[in-house]
Amino acid sequence: MARNILLRKNQLAFIASSHKHYATKAATKVISRPDRWKSVIGLEIHAQIQTASKLFSGSEVAFGAPINTCVSLFDASTPGTLPVLNRKCVELGVRTALALDCEINPVSMFDRKHYFYADLPAGYQITQQRAPLARSGTLRFPVFVPGVTRKPYYKSARLLQLQLEQDSGKSLHDPVERKSLVDLNRAGIPLMELVFEPDLETGEEAAALVKEMILILTRLGSCNCRMEEGALRVDANISVHRENTPLGTRTEVKNIGSVRAVAQAVEYEVERQIGILNEGGRIFNETRAWDAVKRRTIAMRDKEVVQDYRFMPEPNLPPLHVRVGGTLSDGDTVDATQILADLPELPEATRNKLVEEHLLTPEMAIILVNDITLHSHFRAIAETSNKDARSPKTVANFLINELLTVLNKNKIEIEECKITSAHLAEVVDMLESNTINPYLARLILQEALENVTESPSEIAKHKGWLMITDVGRIEEYCRKVIKDNPKVVEKYRNGKDKMLYALAGEIAKLSDQKVDMAKAVDLLKLMLKNK
Ligand code: ADP
Ligand code: MG
Repeated sequence: MARNILLRKNQLAFIASSHKHYATKAATKVISRPDRWKSVIGLEIHAQIQTASKLFSGSEVAFGAPINTCVSLFDASTPGTLPVLNRKCVELGVRTALALDCEINPVSMFDRKHYFYADLPAGYQITQQRAPLARSGTLRFPVFVPGVTRKPYYKSARLLQLQLEQDSGKSLHDPVERKSLVDLNRAGIPLMELVFEPDLETGEEAAALVKEMILILTRLGSCNCRMEEGALRVDANISVHRENTPLGTRTEVKNIGSVRAVAQAVEYEVERQIGILNEGGRIFNETRAWDAVKRRTIAMRDKEVVQDYRFMPEPNLPPLHVRVGGTLSDGDTVDATQILADLPELPEATRNKLVEEHLLTPEMAIILVNDITLHSHFRAIAETSNKDARSPKTVANFLINELLTVLNKNKIEIEECKITSAHLAEVVDMLESNTINPYLARLILQEALENVTESPSEIAKHKGWLMITDVGRIEEYCRKVIKDNPKVVEKYRNGKDKMLYALAGEIAKLSDQKVDMAKAVDLLKLMLKNK
């Protein structure tokens, strides 16, 4: 009994103290948060489905083709022509939806969305409004920008739906002739629209989501993701509100042409909205465009009045049947179970493998997987022949720290870099065998960018870029540095251990960074002790 009371007393004390803890926490929250704005971002992504022909016609899909050369009678909305659904588009749509953990709709529908515009000859777009191809997916992705976010963290965004729809044509305005012309090459190109819930909080998170989508779509082969060609278009819906209050009015930013621009456009728009609200103004529901040159958003059109698109079922297309489990029957267009079985490894699985099997850090895994070329070099160097001789961590370190640094310095994109995986592997092998150090590796890479006739080991030999490992020579350097820096040596001997690095730095300088530093430091310590 007594014990029981004691226990309860202790418990109470514990509860009291933890309450106190919460109270102080809550208090600081209330003090610091009331006028803090929170930003909310929801993305809509239009991804062009990578097919040879259009969604409902047989005309070719070819970026950059001469104006109006990829237009069938159907694309031009000639009366009497009928849509014929391209099966490949359904397949790739389902493939994408499954990669995003969606529920596939066994029966989806097509609808007409009406609006009047010169580049839409039918006066409506065929889309999926009532029953989209898929719903309720999730995308989990890492947020990590070296130099911006300190540590990687994961974020999830719910995918509301994925639908198939047609692209529209393109209006071309000639200011000299004062004429507008229409190019219908894009009219009817297949798109997947992916609508995400407003689950994001910053521009970096929005950019990271887009980046992950690009990696996934590229692996699936369902979209080539060339943002500069309009094959992947991102609309960012942005609002701000105070904590514990309903979401604010949003604006929608279109024309975002790159992953970096997604982050910039969102950050800009958040600041703009906060500025207006802080001055007592209000945000209008409007569409804005991102001006990449002036780095700001500009008003395009007002969305305050809800448009009536007069949605109606598309009468010329039957319901779209997708087999989800069970056996394929006559009316089914594609078999989701089969498509699921054929899914390739997704970026998240690759990153996990790199961390678990190759013992890379999560940061390294993210950087490698984010860049398809860098990752393929990694695979070629660390995962193929001779792989047992090379440590994956050394390979990753070399690619990220040495190769990327040299390429950045020369403003060369990795895709343009002509150094082959085999040659990169040679540099790694020289590092692993202690023939060179990272500094020399960079010199060799720099030379290899220009010099394509010699291999890295030939370059190293003929330039004399080899690490000095000979103990006799290192001893000479140590002796000279000890002799030339009596004050530093004295400080070290008087207990200032850090002075050792100063002396080591002198040795590095003296030897043009060629000396084997680990050996030099050991020798230096020994010689300083022996006097
Ligand atoms: P619309 O019919 O105008 O396209 P939706 O309700 O379908 O509007 O939403 C479209 C997009 O806007 C979605 O991606 C959603 O996440 C995002 N969104 C909705 N409300 C907000 C908000 N308050 N702030 C930011 N984004 C939002
Ligand atoms: Mg929308």
